[in-house]
Amino acid sequence: MSDHAKKQSPATVSAQALGWVDEATKSVTPPLYPSTTFERNTDLSYHDGRCYTRADNPTYDQACAVLNELEGGSETRLFASGMAAAVAVLHALNPGDHVVAPKVMYWALRSFMLDSGVRAGLSFDFVDNADIADWDNHIVAGKTKLVWLETPANPDWQITDIAAVAKLAKAAGAFVVVDNTVATPLLTRPIDFGADIVMHSATKYLNGHSDVLAGSLTTAKDSEFWQRVCKQHASGGAVLGVFETWLLLRGMRTLSIRVERASANAMAIAKHFENHPEIEQVQYPGLESHVGHDIAKKQMSGGFGGMLSLRVKGGEKRAVDFHNQCKLFKRATSLGGVESLIEHRSSVEGPTSPVPADLLRLSVGIEDCDDLVNDLETALRLSK
Ligand SMILES: *Cc1c(COP(=O)(O)O)cnc(C)c1O
Repeated sequence: MSDHAKKQSPATVSAQALGWVDEATKSVTPPLYPSTTFERNTDLSYHDGRCYTRADNPTYDQACAVLNELEGGSETRLFASGMAAAVAVLHALNPGDHVVAPKVMYWALRSFMLDSGVRAGLSFDFVDNADIADWDNHIVAGKTKLVWLETPANPDWQITDIAAVAKLAKAAGAFVVVDNTVATPLLTRPIDFGADIVMHSATKYLNGHSDVLAGSLTTAKDSEFWQRVCKQHASGGAVLGVFETWLLLRGMRTLSIRVERASANAMAIAKHFENHPEIEQVQYPGLESHVGHDIAKKQMSGGFGGMLSLRVKGGEKRAVDFHNQCKLFKRATSLGGVESLIEHRSSVEGPTSPVPADLLRLSVGIEDCDDLVNDLETALRLSK
């Protein structure tokens, strides 16, 4: 192997977007192909096999290749949103198929499973993220077809042992899909721990600037199931627009530096508030006090991510008041952007939410850490 053929680190892969240079112009940023259709050859074949943008477009190539390389997969597809990516997986199942998913997970997807998923004839069991015995009890050989994981999971950042659950799923003949939105491939590569498919809301860290809605699926290897997912992608039509794809690729170039900074800021904030007299609990997998810390250490490297939750002393009213007093932290949903956000989660999820009313979810951005701590301290003081 020549020195140049050595495998590049994720920081290099993302910063250089695999180092592709446009052949026609030598531009180091890629061209964008808005064309929805491609001229056919006289022998009825298609140049490069491309016919129509719902099925394929050259703008996708580099963004897919970068994400595929970061996740260590064999193929990556981009979707119009994270939900569209997740739904494409559910649509690849058959009526009667059984799915095991976490009790606490991305709320909109859990709601979709219980509504459209059930109407499509799927059956679901929801288990305790961190309890391997609970997964074991519900993953049933010959019955379970899909095991859905999210780790760290919204919004208490519980950790699921991917390798342990993947082992149970493999033994039962089920596919394992991991929502890797929060960890990003910079911190965790689920395929390395036995996942079959990795899903992202690329709206979040991958793009990183709160200005693109996008989703992705990366498969470890080709399979009949993956081909059904691909059919959902191209025929179902929830594909990513080419302009969004181009922006996503630009966003991914700074992924490593953003994730590194957000993780460092989140760790510092978690430590600052861990034993704070006004704070009931800090939920962050980087803290030794977090029940999932040991597994997080095993399957996350380079940090524990930019997401954490604070449970404030004084109940819901104090929590809402505290978040109203924040200035730098913006009161908004979503996560993974360069700017810090704070959200009162239980009122977003509604009356059936399992989230405690005193919990605030923080998406920590890349600002100066002292400024962020100061904003939270000031808001705590003003909300007394
Ligand atoms: C946002 C999010 C989703 C849904 O993605 P969209 O891009 O909003 O459709 C799924 N999972 C997690 C963990 C998310 O944060």
